[in-house]
Amino acid sequence: MTLSLPENEDVKFIYDQVDTHTDWFKDSLCMIASENLVSPLARQLQVSDFTDRYAEGLPGKRYYNGNIYVDKVETRVEEIAKKLFRSPVADVRPISGTTANISAFFAFIKPGDLYFAPHLNDGAHISSAKFGAGGLRGGQEMTYVWDKENMNIDVDASRKLLLEHKPKLCLFGRSVFLFPAPLKELQDTLQEIDCHVWYDGAHVLGLIAGGKFQDPLNEGAHILTGSTHKTLPGPQGGVIAGNPKDEDQWKAIRRRVFPGTHSSHHLMTMAAKGIAFAEHLEFGAEYADQIIRNAQALAQALHERGFTVMGEALGFTSSHAMVLDVTAQGGGATCALDLETANIITNKNLIPDDPGTAMRPSGLRLGAQELTRIGMKESHMTEVADLFKRVLIDKEDPMKVKEDSADFKKDFQTIHFCFSTDTPAYHKWRIV
Ligand SMILES: *Cc1c(COP(=O)(O)O)cnc(C)c1O
Repeated sequence: MTLSLPENEDVKFIYDQVDTHTDWFKDSLCMIASENLVSPLARQLQVSDFTDRYAEGLPGKRYYNGNIYVDKVETRVEEIAKKLFRSPVADVRPISGTTANISAFFAFIKPGDLYFAPHLNDGAHISSAKFGAGGLRGGQEMTYVWDKENMNIDVDASRKLLLEHKPKLCLFGRSVFLFPAPLKELQDTLQEIDCHVWYDGAHVLGLIAGGKFQDPLNEGAHILTGSTHKTLPGPQGGVIAGNPKDEDQWKAIRRRVFPGTHSSHHLMTMAAKGIAFAEHLEFGAEYADQIIRNAQALAQALHERGFTVMGEALGFTSSHAMVLDVTAQGGGATCALDLETANIITNKNLIPDDPGTAMRPSGLRLGAQELTRIGMKESHMTEVADLFKRVLIDKEDPMKVKEDSADFKKDFQTIHFCFSTDTPAYHKWRIV
């Protein structure tokens, strides 16, 4: 133990839980598609006096004093973000992908306005649905027609609906994001109905920035929102990049970020985002490429071992993510629990036309981005697939498989695709 703790039961309890969790994850294969490991430098930048300060508004136009250096950093981080997303404008203040999305909904629609988004069963994030930010704004949601075979929007059928209903806003992007959204295919239609085009790239942001997925802001999207901690391996936060159709559209977004939905915007995270963005400019292309190779290798290996991997018609995935239909293995909830016991961390997930519910769905969602981050390559994916087979198909005792998962993980204890791993905030709180 590196900290000397006070004689306080609450403090000890919390410390012990975090400590135990950290040890567990050190020995586990982390495959939640929305998570990643922040680099040591970006982690370090979250421990400074920035942690204790406030900044409201934009650099040079603050409501408080004391922001001389904060302003310099924020201006620079915005510049790095524009380079990273190849965009004329960016806002690095949103404190999460969801607050970025709330800002976008409030900028783009009024209560009662119609918007299009993917259905939750087809992989949408809760924030786009009526129970989430879209509903909070009072928007009326319609969903695209879905092509289950290709795990993507059915372009022709959806085009018809769009022309008929003429929504104010079209939202693309999902939390189960296997293949690029058909922005190019729908571009003429979107221009004809003259709607706001918004791409929620939370999951695939690192792949987009690395130039290995699609380039939404060059395919007709006006704004790109995202989380800074999924395939883009930064601190937990959000970001908005834009190629707006006019100045008013971007001004509306800025106003919704502040004062609409944020006050101070977590300055330590803002600084750490800058480090993560700079690292991604350096290593992102190589990282994104390896993530996709690993996801495809893992999907293929799981398929060969008897799993129903969705999206087979198109090679299972062209992102970091994979989806399994695990109906035959007992359903998503049971499978995810057995895997957890075996030190393999995943999540249950709805699949298209799922007869189950969100708590008892038929699918399992996997991501290869974190395994890639710790140095795994295609050859290691077959070993991961073997562990899945032992737990879910051979029904071996997961407690036994757990030992082998932990053993396998021993060789993968450093973070790759970043500048350095040797910083003080690192010590036992990370897996190096
Ligand atoms: C994860 C996710 C979000 C929310 O991001 P947070 O940073 O967790 O708030 C929004 N949209 C999509 C598509 C996501 O997958």
